[in-house]
Amino acid sequence: MTDPFGRTISYLRVSVTDRCDLRCFYCMSEDMTFLPKADLLTLEELDRLCSAFVAKGVRKLRLTGGEPLVRRNVMSLVRSLSRHLPTGALRELTMTTNGTQLARFASELRDCGVRRINVSLDTLDEAKFRAITRWGELDKVLAGIEAARAAGLAVKINAVALKNLNEDEIPALIAWAHGKGMAVTLIEVMPMGEIGAGRLDQYVPLSLVRARLAKQFTLTDLDESTGGPARYVRVAETGGTLGFITPMTHNFCESCNRVRITCTGTLHTCLGQEDATDLRKPLRASEDNELLAAAIDRAIGTKPKGHDFIIDRPSVSRHMSVTGG
Ligand code: SAM
Repeated sequence: MTDPFGRTISYLRVSVTDRCDLRCFYCMSEDMTFLPKADLLTLEELDRLCSAFVAKGVRKLRLTGGEPLVRRNVMSLVRSLSRHLPTGALRELTMTTNGTQLARFASELRDCGVRRINVSLDTLDEAKFRAITRWGELDKVLAGIEAARAAGLAVKINAVALKNLNEDEIPALIAWAHGKGMAVTLIEVMPMGEIGAGRLDQYVPLSLVRARLAKQFTLTDLDESTGGPARYVRVAETGGTLGFITPMTHNFCESCNRVRITCTGTLHTCLGQEDATDLRKPLRASEDNELLAAAIDRAIGTKPKGHDFIIDRPSVSRHMSVTGG
């Protein structure tokens, strides 16, 4: 799949549910309304949809959410999608999770061919963790991370940089993760969805965070890429890798290889634009994938050049939990 700007699409992110067991204040409001369960694609339909993308050249598949591990029976989807790994059709099957359910599922993920996962964790301070997630328990996430490491999964920690909240803690978070052999990626807050609060109170540009880190650590730019939007540096003092995802201060659209589908089968070819294509209809209209493949081609043919977020304006009405991170 190649879009009008010559970018090859090889990475699919799938939000398997918009529901989450946490309520991170920058992601959703406390009384978030979730989609009616009846609107969701079944796990079999999600498998068919993902497999159609694999047949069209997707090589990396990330399951996300909401919280992917709260979708009932989600491991049956992971297991069925893993059939594409030994054939080489799929190079990587991975997941982004908040880690709360990992103690239960880590071994099975590894058993299904998952080798690396991203765990979202913005703080190591229990009280701050509760304040950010509204009711989450840090211990559960830390136990989940340990379970994942014990199961042999490589864990990358994703942390959203939050003004006046975890800014001062970022060096400690990096030292902690790198001390355990885990890479870290920092993310800028994006103006996605109405959350009942101003984004300017949350946003801190990563250019500033990086400048501060550079006073304490020796950062060396790396060429390496994991197929995602992050730019990486090596931290000499810890020996670990640090990524920066900077949708606000530096957009990375020129190398975008990604599209996203929601749990209702809507395809979004850009995280930061309102473009949407319904794939549920063609999926359900016939048992073969001809209509579906045509709808996918049409959507890829209109993938926007890039996003243009403005921090104090909700640029996109969808919450991150709908499209998946
Ligand atoms: N529940 C899973 C998790 O926590 O990783 C997967 C979905 S969550 C929406 C994916 C990532 O998006 C998390 O790292 C979360 O912190 C991040 N996120 C949510 N809303 C965001 C926003 N408005 N700007 C930047 N990142 C956001």
